[in-house]
Amino acid sequence: MSMDKLFDSDKKSYVSPPINIGEFLDKAIKADARLSNFCAAPAFEYVKELLRVDGTIPAADHPTASDLQDCRLSFKYYLMSKGIESEQCDEVVNGMDDQLQELLMNVPVDNLQGVFPPKENNLKSLQALREFQDLPGIRQEKTLLSTRLKYHDLRSGEYRKGYAAPNQPVEADVVMMVHLVPPRLPRDVQKQSRVRPDVKLLIRGEMPLSKLRDKIFCGYDYFSNLHDFEDASNVKDYYINRYPSSFLFIHDTFYIDKRNPEAIDITVPIRSFMANHKIFGEPKVRDITMTKINDLTLRLGEPYVFVHIGDCEHLVVFTDLRRMHPTDTQALGEYPIFLYDRSTTPKCCICKTDTPAFIVPESDRIPHCPAFMCTNCFNAFNYNNDTRIGDFKAFHFIDQSIFE
Ligand SMILES: [Zn+2]
Ligand SMILES: [Zn+2]
Repeated sequence: MSMDKLFDSDKKSYVSPPINIGEFLDKAIKADARLSNFCAAPAFEYVKELLRVDGTIPAADHPTASDLQDCRLSFKYYLMSKGIESEQCDEVVNGMDDQLQELLMNVPVDNLQGVFPPKENNLKSLQALREFQDLPGIRQEKTLLSTRLKYHDLRSGEYRKGYAAPNQPVEADVVMMVHLVPPRLPRDVQKQSRVRPDVKLLIRGEMPLSKLRDKIFCGYDYFSNLHDFEDASNVKDYYINRYPSSFLFIHDTFYIDKRNPEAIDITVPIRSFMANHKIFGEPKVRDITMTKINDLTLRLGEPYVFVHIGDCEHLVVFTDLRRMHPTDTQALGEYPIFLYDRSTTPKCCICKTDTPAFIVPESDRIPHCPAFMCTNCFNAFNYNNDTRIGDFKAFHFIDQSIFE
């Protein structure tokens, strides 16, 4: 509850109450079992009773509940347990199969192209809707609004990759969507623009939390304090190695990443600040490598934070928690799955094609700083042979795209 009072989480309609993911999974499994037993349990009792009365089949050879996995058979015995005759049950089951087959033959799902409102219909309401759709600017407005929808531009092929093999049980686990919001520069914070995620991931409950942390890429990791005229060949000079400490703060717990031997616990001053202010609850501390997603307690929709290189803050929001479906990728090793990726890497501000190698935060000849430049453009613009032109400051920088 560390931030709940400050954020007033209980009054936010888009924030859920705290949920322990492991407990949610247990409840979801029980609810699933209750649902699938709705027909199967009475059907099984009925078959057992039939065999007991018959008496010709020894009790040891009686079917078990798992023998009644066939949904048609199970449904037939369920109907019979309610007193319906066997022939009538067969008629119902076969009739349903025939209707489904006929439907699929007449309306193949692959060819289905819905047109709304239908063109061949003269209802006044549909005519009015068609006229409204033809008004100038409506289509642009619709496109603009649709970009704000939660599932806009999701990689649907990743979201629904395939079905579990027939008769193979679906993994008893949960999946959840994670929205990663990139850090904002101080000048962006002044703007009233909407906070937008640039990456959305699908994660699984059994996955270690550290795997989620490893998917949070940040360009600032590859900045350096080395001036353009200094040697930048040592990878230890870049921020990712110079400032290797980081943590994820979720609900009331700091999950600290100390996998790099030089990493330290940078939450100490934050925790002592919190201890001195009553509005924060008592925060907990855990090792990120000892935590699975199923161990987390969190509120869906509430922004949490990932902090690295001192003060680079990325918002992390969890949504869409649910039991795994047969349509979900079952292999644990494939998670996290990128569902959406709008992260952009800067191009050289002069040639607009090459990967930048320098960042120029100050210059008396560039109107927009910081500017990113590739090596060729940087040397051509800022140097005349070995002489510096104008007044500027520049640092070595590695673009993250070269690691992808
Ligand atoms: Zn960052
Ligand atoms: Zn260039």
